[in-house]
Amino acid sequence: MATPQSHFRFLAFSLSIIHISLFLSTTATQLPLLEEQDTPITHFQRYLRINTAHPTPDYTSAVSFLKAQAQSLGLKTQTLEFVQGKPVLLLTWPGSNPSLPSLLLNSHLDSVPAEPEKWLHNPFSAHRTASGAIFARGAQDDKCIAIQYLEAIRNLKSQSFTPHRTIHISLVPDEEIGGIDGAAKFVESEEFNGLNVGFALDEGQASPGDEFRVFYSDRVPWNVKIRAKGRPGHGSRMYDGSAVENLMESVEVVSRFRESQFDVVKAGKALNGEVVSVNPVYVKAGVVSEDGFAMNVQPSEAEAGFDLRLTPTTDPEEMRRRIAEEWAPAVRNMSYEIIEKGPLRDYMGRPLMTATDDSNPWWSVFKQAITSVGEKLSRPEILASTTDARYLRQKGIPVLGFSPMKNTPILLHDHNEHLKDTVFMKGIQVYESLISSLSTFTEASH
Ligand SMILES: [Zn+2]
Repeated sequence: MATPQSHFRFLAFSLSIIHISLFLSTTATQLPLLEEQDTPITHFQRYLRINTAHPTPDYTSAVSFLKAQAQSLGLKTQTLEFVQGKPVLLLTWPGSNPSLPSLLLNSHLDSVPAEPEKWLHNPFSAHRTASGAIFARGAQDDKCIAIQYLEAIRNLKSQSFTPHRTIHISLVPDEEIGGIDGAAKFVESEEFNGLNVGFALDEGQASPGDEFRVFYSDRVPWNVKIRAKGRPGHGSRMYDGSAVENLMESVEVVSRFRESQFDVVKAGKALNGEVVSVNPVYVKAGVVSEDGFAMNVQPSEAEAGFDLRLTPTTDPEEMRRRIAEEWAPAVRNMSYEIIEKGPLRDYMGRPLMTATDDSNPWWSVFKQAITSVGEKLSRPEILASTTDARYLRQKGIPVLGFSPMKNTPILLHDHNEHLKDTVFMKGIQVYESLISSLSTFTEASH
C-alpha cells in the first residue's frame, strides 16, 4: 500500500507527464484522452467514484454525472429540490401513448459510510480485480441499478425500441437515513402526481444462489423506548418496585415475545422478513460516580431501547396494546415512547404489499420478462429492512424490489462490498427485457 506521501509524489509525476504531452501536441484543439473507454463498466466505475456516503454525500457531482449520461441518451432531465442541497433527479423517456400510467424506475443516490482501512481496495476507487470484481461502496446498494437502468435504455434506443408507456427514472437522496427529505417528499409533490405512475421497480438485494430475489414489501421500523421509575434506595436493601428491577421484568417479557417470533424462523416456517423482530439496542441506568457507577445505590430511573420491525400484516393497534399493557405497564410505574419510522398502511388503509399473484397483471409481465431471458425468481420475499418502496406503496402504487444480482454474496453495508462485472452486465440485459415488456404492456390501467 502506498503511503499518502508517495501517492502525492506519484500524482505529481503523472501530472508533469500530462503537462509535457499537452505541451508537445501543437494542434491542441483536442485534449488528450485522459478518460477511460466509454463502456457500461466504466460508467459504473465513474459513478462509484463519486463519494455519496453519509454524512456528507456529494449529491451535486452525482447528479451532474447522471444528468450528463441521461442527456447522452436523449432523455429529458429535471432536477427537483424539495430540501436544499438534497436534489431529486428525474429522467424521462416519453412513451408513444403518454395517457397510459407510467413506469417508474427508482434508485437512491446515497450510500452508507465505509471504513477504508478495513477494505482490500479503497471503497471509492471502484477497483476492478483481475477476476472482474468491482470493489466500491454502493456497488450493490444501489449504484448498480441506476447505471443498469441507463445502459438498458441505451441498448433499447440503439434497437429503435419505442415504449408505449412513458418511462421515468428517479434518483433520490437520503434513502440510507430514512428518505424523509428524499422519496417521502418526492411522492408528496405535485411533480410526482403528474407522473401518473402505474408500476415501479426499486432496489432489491443480491442472491447467493442461482435465482434472482424479488421483494413485495418492506418491514416497518419502530423505535421503542421503555422507561421505569422506582423508589431509590441503598444497594443493600431488598424491596419491590425499584426502577431497574421493574425494567428487568419488562425485558424478560420482551425477550419472550422475541423468542416466539425467532422460533418460527429457526423452525424454518417463515423467512426473516415474515416475523416481527425485536432487538435490544441500549440499556441506560445507574448513578454515575467518579469511578463509574455507584455500586450501593439503586437508581430511581432506568431505560431500554428496542429496534422493532413490523411485518406488513402486523396489526399496529395490537402491537401498541402489547407495549402499553405488557412491556411498559403504567401500573408498574413504566412509560414508553414509540417512534414510527414510516407508514404501515397505504392511503386506503391497506397493508403496504404488492400482490405477487394473478390478481396483479404487472406481476405476470414482470415474471415473464425474467423467464424470457432464461432466468429464474425465488419465492417473493418481504425485505427485512426498509427501502423507499414503502413511500410509493403508501400511494397505492405496486412496487417490486429487485436488483438483478445472482450468485453474489450479500455485501450491502459490509466491508469490501463488490459486484462482479459479468453479473453487472447480465443485469443490463435483464432490465432491457423488463423495461421493454413493462412499457409495452397496455392492459393494466393502474
Ligand atoms: Zn439501498
